[in-house]
Amino acid sequence: MSSEEIGPLNEYQIAAQTGAAFRVKKGQTIRVVDVEGEQVADLVCFARQDTKEYLSSGRSIDYNEKLNLSTGDILYSNRSNPMLAITRDEVGKHDFLFAPCSQEMFRLTYNTTGPHPNCLDNLAHSLITFGIRNHQIPTAFNIFMNVTITADGRVSVKTPLSTAGDFIDLRSEMDLIVGVSACSAGRCNNFNCTPIRVEIYRKDISG
Ligand SMILES: [Zn+2]
Repeated sequence: MSSEEIGPLNEYQIAAQTGAAFRVKKGQTIRVVDVEGEQVADLVCFARQDTKEYLSSGRSIDYNEKLNLSTGDILYSNRSNPMLAITRDEVGKHDFLFAPCSQEMFRLTYNTTGPHPNCLDNLAHSLITFGIRNHQIPTAFNIFMNVTITADGRVSVKTPLSTAGDFIDLRSEMDLIVGVSACSAGRCNNFNCTPIRVEIYRKDISG
């Protein structure tokens, strides 16, 4: 019986506009599921052995020689070590350019004056359990976030291509601390923020 048939080792139900953080071991698979569809999940990770090693958008784009990462691609750390391998991707459109949404982003982009749930705070509140602080949180791998780029370099956020139940599988390439936030920015999620589910499988469940 395969690991997928046995079912996940752990499961995290992340309510709309909230986050979660957890440990995974090298070789385990993180499945991020868009429960209702058109929902972005910001994912960051840190090396368990030394949290000064973290997910790097810049190095991942550099070594993969592309902006759109999908099945077969590796996500690297700031120290150029593989952190995650994308082993299965039902959507194929994610972003690795935008910083996690924040209170300041809501003020600058949406003119929001009062407190607003945001990915940076969601990640920081969850990751503090592991001693990781707000200023350590890097550019997230923005799963299901649909950003288009014009020839002259203008970026715009579109509705995610994911439908209910779509998922991406990421195999951990080292022992990790992982943070995931169900994004609370309206335009990222077709103005309907919904939950995300994370399932951890014992081993690689690809192919
Ligand atoms: Zn967000």
